[in-house]
This record gives sequence, structure tokens and C-alpha cells, in this order.
Amino acid sequence: MTSTTPFPAASRRRQTALGRLALVAALAAAGLTFAGLPAPAEAAAPQLKTQAPGWYRLMVGSFEVTSLSDGTVALPVDQLLHAPAGRVAEGLKQNFQKAPLETSVNAWLINTGSRLVLVDAGAGTLFGPTLGKLAAQIRAAGYQPEQVDDILITHMHPDHVGGLAADGQRVFPNATVHADKADADYWLSTAKAEAAPKEAKGFFQGAQASLTPYVQAGRFQPFERDGEIVPGIRAFAAHGHTAGHAAYAVESQGQRLVLVGDLIHVASVQLASPDVTIAFDTDEAQAAKTRARVFAELARDGSLVAVTHFNFPGVGRLRQAGKGWQWVPLDYRSQVN
Ligand SMILES: [Zn+2]
Ligand SMILES: [Zn+2]
Repeated sequence: MTSTTPFPAASRRRQTALGRLALVAALAAAGLTFAGLPAPAEAAAPQLKTQAPGWYRLMVGSFEVTSLSDGTVALPVDQLLHAPAGRVAEGLKQNFQKAPLETSVNAWLINTGSRLVLVDAGAGTLFGPTLGKLAAQIRAAGYQPEQVDDILITHMHPDHVGGLAADGQRVFPNATVHADKADADYWLSTAKAEAAPKEAKGFFQGAQASLTPYVQAGRFQPFERDGEIVPGIRAFAAHGHTAGHAAYAVESQGQRLVLVGDLIHVASVQLASPDVTIAFDTDEAQAAKTRARVFAELARDGSLVAVTHFNFPGVGRLRQAGKGWQWVPLDYRSQVN
């Protein structure tokens, strides 16, 4: 066949090489090797379709911090974000994304050396089957839920408290839960739940089902003002997303990590346009104002920042960029020191 083709010599040589490969492939398909011996039977390896365990460790001074993935969930951010026309589509497109957007739900486990502290608890069963992996990730990361001493809640939305309880039982039986009293007064109020519009009632039910086992066991301690909750971890009000949304500053040996909860949701849109809010914000104007104030401070001092809904492990730094921000993810390290 090659003798009849008008191809130049180099191309003919290529064809001949390809012909040899075709012969090898044909022999292999027939179960024969060049030596004419049967090749060992090899089934194609099945694809596994499983993901790496969702935890990532870093040090903040002498504190060991483990980022935990509760899973990811596809959010219709085009419907949830409140933005000038075209802004959401533009932000997503520039970042090679589209709605619904696969969104991380992260939580953090902090071993201060004297206490084991969990910040937020994931969604449990409240937000669909792709979330609720937190307890399994804690175990995969080498800890047990029974070892957790304190749980700091940023706010009582279902994706932050759903993992506290399972079948009405405490998942963290030895832990005391701490949250801003304004959030407890809102989400744990029977009167407010009854007065809420139908579509919001599920949020109240979720918060109450998650917190009640701790309240009944005397293991719920709301706080009313900024201050240290456990040595080295300070709560400060970051209200707006919810009535009592709190952030937590972790400080050890001069290093600082600030866990900002839901001060922001969609990096590809809200970093460049910090005025864009989300339907989950209880008070959207206050949420945007608080975001601007806290982010300005974090960008100024270069603190490490942990964001619940940024891509796992959700830890990095904020840099001021025009009227908005840029996210600088933490460098990956294979060693923890
Ligand atoms: Zn929220
Ligand atoms: Zn959230």
C-alpha cells in the first residue's frame, strides 16, 4: 500500500511505523505476543469514581488546624445572587463556570493543644445527599467526634448546623456548642418560626432539630458580645447574613486565621463585585457592609482567611483589587509544620 501512495519518504516512514504499531495492536487483541505466546489476560481497570478524603492540615502558630469538606452542592447561583443585570453571568463566564455552580461546604477542626474545637458542623441530612460527610472526614483525618470539646457556630443555617445531630442525637456528645445569642434568639424561636413564610420554615426546623439536643443536655452556651470563647479563639460579630452571624479569629504565636463563615458565597462574582448579595442574607444591605468592613481589615493585615463556601480547603488570603478583592489560595504543602 505504501508503494502506491504519493507521500514523501518521511511520511512513508511514519506510515510504516504506524503499520508496525497496528500489527502489535492486532496481535495483542488476538491474545498473542510477538513470540507467539498468549499474553496474560488483562481486563481494563474499572474506573473508581471516588474522591480523595476531604481534609487538609495546616499550622497556625502552635495550633493544628484541619480543613474538613462536608461535600459540595450544586447551587443555582444565577437565581440566588442579587446583582445588576449580566453581572453574575459575566463573573461566571470569566471564571469558566456556569450555574448551577458546584459549591464547597467546609468546616474546621482546631486542636489548640488543650482543646479540640470544631467550627461549624456541615449540613448533615438537611441539604441533600452530596453533603453530610463531616463526621466521616473527622475520622478520616484521625480524630473522633467524641473528642470534640467545643463547637463554634458561625450561624444557624442548615449547611452549618445540620451535622450537629443525627436522628435527634448529638453527633458530638462531649461538646459544648457556642453561637451568637442573636442567632439563637432568631432561629430557635417558636414564634419566629410560626410567623416565617412557608419557604423559610425549613430553615427554622433545621436549626431547631440540630441545636435542641444540645440545649436539652445543657450543652449550649450562647454569647452576647465579642470575646474569647476558648483560649486563642475569639468571636466577633459579623451580622447581616443572619441576625447573629459571627466570625472567629484564631491566634497563636503571632499568626492569625480568621474564619468568616458566610460573609461571602460565590468567589467568581462577589470578589470583584462585593455589593452583590445573596437570597440567603437576612439583611442584604448589612451583609454587604459587614463584608466590606471585615475584608478591608483582613486584606490590610494579611491574615489567613477560611471561607465556608470557597473551593475546599477554603483557606487563603484576600488582596484588595480596585473596589473588590482577589483571593490568594494557601500554597499546598505535603508536610504539616
Ligand atoms: Zn448561611
Ligand atoms: Zn452557608
